[in-house]
Amino acid sequence: MIYIHIPFCKQKCSYCNFHFSTSLNFKDEMIAAMKKEIFLRKDELQNKNLQSLYFGGGTPSILSGDEIKFLIDEVLKYFNFNSDIEITLEANPDDLDKNFLKSLSDSPVNRLSIGTQSFFDEDLKLMNRAHNASDAEGSIKRAQDFGFENLSIDLIYGSPTSNLEIWKENLKKTIALEVPHISSYALTVEPKTALENWISKGKVISPKEEEQNKEFYYMIDFLKDHDFEHYEISNFAKPGFHSRHNSAYWKYNEYLGIGPSAHSYNGFDVRSWNVANNQQYIKKLSSNLLAKEEEVLSQEDQFNEMIMIGLRTTWGVDLESLKNKFSEQILEKFTAEIKNKLNDGILKIENNHLKIPEKHWFMADGIASDLFLV
Ligand code: SF4
Repeated sequence: MIYIHIPFCKQKCSYCNFHFSTSLNFKDEMIAAMKKEIFLRKDELQNKNLQSLYFGGGTPSILSGDEIKFLIDEVLKYFNFNSDIEITLEANPDDLDKNFLKSLSDSPVNRLSIGTQSFFDEDLKLMNRAHNASDAEGSIKRAQDFGFENLSIDLIYGSPTSNLEIWKENLKKTIALEVPHISSYALTVEPKTALENWISKGKVISPKEEEQNKEFYYMIDFLKDHDFEHYEISNFAKPGFHSRHNSAYWKYNEYLGIGPSAHSYNGFDVRSWNVANNQQYIKKLSSNLLAKEEEVLSQEDQFNEMIMIGLRTTWGVDLESLKNKFSEQILEKFTAEIKNKLNDGILKIENNHLKIPEKHWFMADGIASDLFLV
């Protein structure tokens, strides 16, 4: 699978600490640099058929339909791919007008992941999103009118401008719009964001974990009642609408990341990442050099990663794979670590997979980190 990071956004959302620039001055140079990176890395993922190509960001929908098609063509020119390859584009609601959707519907993009976040203006204002509630709803309907059935929306819960009643309305609206996939995250206060600054100055109250916890568990029950499968902590899908791309990450498959700050993984023990700086990225690629650094993962790193990722999913951590991959010493330590948690019901084993029972999923990251090797 291939991920392409589009490092531009119209404006900075108050909670976001991703890598992007709000200046589009070097957009053409960036696309040329990405074309070069695709070419220079064409021998990676050899003997593999791509199952997915994912445009993330930043804001991929800031590009024109032609620019997106151009990058897809570059990828498909050099890599083998399955005929039913999933091609996802993350798009913001304010970009999904009829012209853009028409252009996308004429392209190989066959899945949209829309950054809806909320159907309420107060939430969207606090988040400093570039869209309003009417765009949030209208963009989904328009995308469906243009034939995009494989749709995901992002929703954020636990905002200080929200409460359980408002959250219930967000979920009801999602069901009414017949969206088949939802990625939903708690609003978190990241360092060096506007949200952190407002909270430190007392202008905005901090999101409350108790409230987020209530909203998270309400969402689980509500979406299950509407035939969604909760297949990863933050992801819910109707049958047949799982994200193929993200599922492959969660199964530790190999992936290639193109663009500034994009990460790659060889499916075994090497992880690499591109420089998180647009100018440096363009400069390197214009000299025919890759802008990446890499590290060889130690046994401990690989183990921690498998635990962290696997315990966030419904299928859990495959104990047979752990046995085949790691030393006796690591496994002995691990067996001792999980014993109490199994007795306390915080972990369970099913079909030789270690899992966190759903009622403890809100605490999954903490439970996983207790099992890390240091
Ligand atoms: S659109 Fe996405 S990447 Fe851009 S600032 Fe907002 S949250 Fe961050």
